[in-house]
Amino acid sequence: MSAETLHCPTCGRTLEAAGQTRRCAAGGMVLSLYVNRALEADFGVGSAPQPQPRRWPLLGGVWFCPADATQMVESDGVVVCPHCGRSLAHGTLWQLIELHMHAPIG
Ligand SMILES: [Zn+2]
Ligand SMILES: [Zn+2]
Repeated sequence: MSAETLHCPTCGRTLEAAGQTRRCAAGGMVLSLYVNRALEADFGVGSAPQPQPRRWPLLGGVWFCPADATQMVESDGVVVCPHCGRSLAHGTLWQLIELHMHAPIG
C-alpha cells in the first residue's frame, strides 16, 4: 500500500488524488481541503490514535477507517476503528455528514 493511500470514510474505497485534495470516484465525492488534511493527520502514515472527547449522542450511519478500510464502530459517541484504534474527529464527521454528498453504493 502506498504511503499516501487513504480510503473513503463513507464507502471504504481507495481515494484518488484530485488537485489539492482527494476524491471518491464511486461516490462522486470530493473531499474539502479541511477533511483531506484531517484524514491525512489522523489516518496517514505515522499517525497515532488520538483520543476524542465523548461529545455526541449516537450518530448512526456506517463509516470506514480511512487508514485500513475496516468498518468502524461507534462507542460512547466516538467512531472508532476496531482494527487500528484510530477515530474520526467530530469536526471531520460533521463535515462529512453536512458537506459531503456521497452517491449511494449498490
Ligand atoms: Zn466513497
Ligand atoms: Zn483503522
